Amino acid sequence: MRNEIDGHTILIGLMATPIRHSMSPTMHNLAFADLGLNYVYLAFEVDQAHLPAAIQSVRTLEMRGTNISMPNKRIVLELLDQIDPAAELINAVNTVVNDDGVLTGYNTDGIGFMRSLAKHKLDIRGQKMTLIGTGGAGTAIGIQAALDGVREFDIFNRQDGQWEAAQRLTKIINEQTDATAHLHPLAEQAKLRSSLQTARILVDATGVGMKPLANQSLINDPNWLPADLIVYDTVYAPRTTKLMQVAHQAGVKTVMNGLEMMLEQGAAAFKLWTGHEMPVEHVHQVLF
Ligand code: NAD
Repeated sequence: MRNEIDGHTILIGLMATPIRHSMSPTMHNLAFADLGLNYVYLAFEVDQAHLPAAIQSVRTLEMRGTNISMPNKRIVLELLDQIDPAAELINAVNTVVNDDGVLTGYNTDGIGFMRSLAKHKLDIRGQKMTLIGTGGAGTAIGIQAALDGVREFDIFNRQDGQWEAAQRLTKIINEQTDATAHLHPLAEQAKLRSSLQTARILVDATGVGMKPLANQSLINDPNWLPADLIVYDTVYAPRTTKLMQVAHQAGVKTVMNGLEMMLEQGAAAFKLWTGHEMPVEHVHQVLF
């Protein structure tokens, strides 16, 4: 165990605003200490106007990299030297790696989602996903799952400001991956119900179920949820959302919240920077 900062300590950042609430510094610094790695992870309050200078400082200060969060995940693409193909399709970067001055952008949100399933030996390749919500989380999950071998997607979204993003996600899955995607307005409730009867997994990536929509769910009838469907809510506060309660009522065997996805997206970034596996169980135990 170490966390002694000395002249050799390597810096990794987190650039976003607001950012003081983030658990990432605690998560990564604990993992560095566990593995005796001489790194330190710090959060920096950075808005879009200051992002170019902040990214330049990754080069200047020879930082190993940085996490990027809102509102910078998209704008950062223009500031990097290369973009991982999945992040390019997702059109958002949450992790930057500095290899001798060459900055590469990755998106580990979808990777974190797939890793969280793999940890439970859940294999959704070759099967169908019903995906509700196509914002940052839904897009990363949809594209990574399609790249990793999910065969078919029924995508549902409200016809709100996000509808164009839903159309873009559907088009990319159809045109740039081996999977097939169909887009439906969330208002088509009969379609949603029938999709769930043949899906392997339901992913709710809307945030309904957390504040200010705690105790709300987009699915309220347990009869809609077959017992062998995986029900996955990307929300992690509260730990058990209303959708998860409905799934339990329905007798669904596998019900997950977003906590493991959050930990695993961090673990994937940690691996990119250090080459080491994050001790996720210990981090989980200490933080939650
Ligand atoms: P976002 O604002 O980018 O997207 C939200 C999506 O949900 C949009 O498609 C929007 O149309 C839809 N939506 C919003 N309110 C809705 C409602 N009342 N009814 C139906 N649809 C609605 O948000 P995001 O960044 O993609 O985050 C979505 C959720 O995922 C949040 O709960 C967030 O906490 C969670 N998340 C979890 C992780 C993780 O690691 N577990 C990572 C990122 C986001």
